Amino acid sequence: MPKIEIIKKIFPAIFFILVNLILANEVFPFSSDSDSTPVEKYGQIRVEGNRIVDKNGNPVALHGMSLFWSQWIGKYYNPFCIEWLRSDWKITVVRAAMGIEPDGYLTNPDTEKNKIFSVINKSIDLGIYVIVDWHDHNAHNHQAEAIGFFAEIAALYGDQPNLIYEIYNEPTQVSWSNVVKPYAEAVIDTIRSIDPDNLIIVGTPTWSQDVDIAANDPLEYSNIAYALHFYAATHKQSLRNKAASALGKGAALFVSEWGTSESSGTGKLDTVETERWLNFMEQNKLSWCNWSVADKNETSAALKGGASEFGEWNDTDLSASGDLIRKKLIFLSDSVSTDIRVINPFQSFKLIQNYPNPFNPSTRIVYQLDRKSHVVIRVFDILGNEVTTLVNEEKSAGVYEAEFKSNENNKNLSSGIYFCRFEADNFFQTKKMVLIK
Ligand code: MG
Repeated sequence: MPKIEIIKKIFPAIFFILVNLILANEVFPFSSDSDSTPVEKYGQIRVEGNRIVDKNGNPVALHGMSLFWSQWIGKYYNPFCIEWLRSDWKITVVRAAMGIEPDGYLTNPDTEKNKIFSVINKSIDLGIYVIVDWHDHNAHNHQAEAIGFFAEIAALYGDQPNLIYEIYNEPTQVSWSNVVKPYAEAVIDTIRSIDPDNLIIVGTPTWSQDVDIAANDPLEYSNIAYALHFYAATHKQSLRNKAASALGKGAALFVSEWGTSESSGTGKLDTVETERWLNFMEQNKLSWCNWSVADKNETSAALKGGASEFGEWNDTDLSASGDLIRKKLIFLSDSVSTDIRVINPFQSFKLIQNYPNPFNPSTRIVYQLDRKSHVVIRVFDILGNEVTTLVNEEKSAGVYEAEFKSNENNKNLSSGIYFCRFEADNFFQTKKMVLIK
């Protein structure tokens, strides 16, 4: 028999054995990054020269998503969405973009702040980095408010390696040396008096493009990176040249916001320039957050209209940009197993909305199984803290009810939003419940 014939004959057998070994987890164990979280791996990050380095002094690039202006699309500022972005998109950093004006923090400080707390708490829980972004184009006019806010954040979270401050999202066309820099010095002085070491990102003029101008007159503090923002269909090689110039002057950069679209956030999806930028960022070890986790009808938004606020997204929930970015994030993560997504595999596993809703003091939760499964049903508060476990046992196929009592076991839960999380095997689904007293 000619050699080629032998190969043809035995190839199917070899292939069969290989596939079974992989499935049996023998050849490529599916555990490469599940053992440790990004923060366990990298620890307290800091700036060394023009690089961000990990606890061992090795350059590190974080990759993740920015949430949208908190006052406009705040529904994704919840622990389940962040958990999904970590487990399914493999983000190592998330950016909480707290809208300042209009109708943002200046108007409703507690409402906006609570959204940020929710994202920070979950990020710490998951061991990912979290950027707390003062999302403002006029921060130098709101210096006292920014100082008050960051003093509180530093006091609460400054001892956590997860935290990254971003103190001025995008200055417009104002002077670096006379406007942005004095503002940054005042805010950084306050942060550093409380938290001596966490990374601080500072925006640069012209919507965080003039990193070269900032690099000419740098801030005299340690652990400062300058924000570089771009939208691939608008900002191209000339902005990469400015970035290279800033790096050449020793400035560390952080791409805390970028989009695949035009600078308006919509228009053309530029895959060619997106790829050039991604290569540039990889070559220079630049961390990035893509804009944005939003279901707005615009090119840069990662989700299509109505995509669940709790994650759990199918491919059909993702926009073209979201699909591209998710695949890139998975590619950049060092995990092997990441592209295996198990979502809603069994249509007849189902959590039905609780009733009544809103409720007081109790509500009934109905769920359905098409086969024997281990079911876990838990209730969380708005910050993602577990309130109770209602079910944690094996159940046969069927329809079941569980009751959530807000006043049980001396609990006296306050009015507000709660989340009911249903898990059966690899399926999970979350519903919002409202307690009104
Ligand atoms: Mg610290």
